[in-house]
Order: sequence, then structure tokens, then C-alpha cells
Amino acid sequence: MSTRCEVHGQALVPGEAEVVYGIWTGDGFEETRRRLFPQAHSHIACGCFYSAEFPRTGAVLMCPACREAEADWMSFFSPAGG
Ligand SMILES: [Zn+2]
Repeated sequence: MSTRCEVHGQALVPGEAEVVYGIWTGDGFEETRRRLFPQAHSHIACGCFYSAEFPRTGAVLMCPACREAEADWMSFFSPAGG
């Protein structure tokens, strides 16, 4: 398992990710994610099932630069961002 981001070359650091159910992956998001911020890991997709006993957040190894790239990309495409 790689401990560096293949895009930014940064060492991955421990972080927290929000657990989401039925995460949106349409409109080429998955392709963009792999290309621009493969190690952002801001969300953990738990498929299409839900259990109240599941934790809301989880520990991940993530690339800080990927998190920034993802935040930039999200704000650019977000309708709320204007
Ligand atoms: Zn990265």
C-alpha cells in the first residue's frame, strides 16, 4: 500500500473522514477525483445500506494537498458558490 500521494507526492497523514451513504459519484466526479485528488479521503462511502450503529466518522490516511484540491473543486462546482 502506498503511503504517498501519486499526484502530489506528499506523505499521507492520518485524518478523519465523514461516513456517507449513497455518495454522489455522477457526472464524472469519480474520474476527476482519481485524477486531481485521489488521496483526499474526505468521505467514506458505505454503499447503499444504513445502520444507526455505524460510526459517523472514520480514520483514514489522506493527502493534505488532495483535500485542498477537492475543496477548490467542490466550491467551484457548487451552486451555492455562485
Ligand atoms: Zn494529493
